[in-house]
Amino acid sequence: MLEVADLEVRYGAIQAVRGISLTAKRGELIALLGANGAGKSTTIMCIAGALKPAAGSIRIAGEDVTSAGPEAMIRKGLATVTETRDVFPDLTVAENLMLGSYIRRHDRAGVTEDRERMLTLFPRLAERSSQPAGTLSGGEQQMLVIARAMMSRPKVLLLDEPSLGLAPAIVDQIFEMIGVLKRSGLTIVLVEQNIAKALEVADRAYVMRLGRIAASGTAGEISAATDFNAVYLGG
Ligand code: ATP
Repeated sequence: MLEVADLEVRYGAIQAVRGISLTAKRGELIALLGANGAGKSTTIMCIAGALKPAAGSIRIAGEDVTSAGPEAMIRKGLATVTETRDVFPDLTVAENLMLGSYIRRHDRAGVTEDRERMLTLFPRLAERSSQPAGTLSGGEQQMLVIARAMMSRPKVLLLDEPSLGLAPAIVDQIFEMIGVLKRSGLTIVLVEQNIAKALEVADRAYVMRLGRIAASGTAGEISAATDFNAVYLGG
């Protein structure tokens, strides 16, 4: 479903991503792990179309979408939840949710169906649907940005650090929902600092170090074989 080959990304003279290749099949959840500065967010932002690669290619469902740009990427079936967790604070939860469906203006029945599905999956959002999004807790805002991303009916969902700064009970709920989305056939790329949680839900994982893939394998192989202290201290 997603094929990234030999991706390189530069910020001026800094080469943040130095030849990354990864694949995710339909319904597969891959985790992207690594220390701060390893290049995970840069990889995600490049796949999302927000950064242009210096080299390499990105394919979704076999179609070459390299350098397609953020809106084109959404139309090609890719949705992204960035670590900044941006909601429109003065708009209600329901309005925020609907903004995620703007590329589907002519599919009202489908949009209504998806909104109901998201409100069922995230009952806290249903309870708060007429509340301004800026009044939600951090965990609820995280749920909202995931649900909003799902409103474009993506084939592939990129999730950058969904557990960042959240209480353990909320993190558990969010991971449970990520599991539900995966079981519905969605392909997911998950960047996480919470390695244990990520490997619980992931099928496979890639460990990045200094802009390269240092290790990859099934979630079981990676948790057995990887010294995460070394990874996270950058050793
Ligand atoms: P974190 O977990 O801290 O988000 P990361 O693995 O996502 O880390 P990136 O944010 O992708 O890492 O950063 C990779 C490298 O690119 C780092 O050396 C970082 O300093 C550099 N970098 C990131 N953004 C920029 C930018 N806008 N301009 C210049 N360099 C950048």
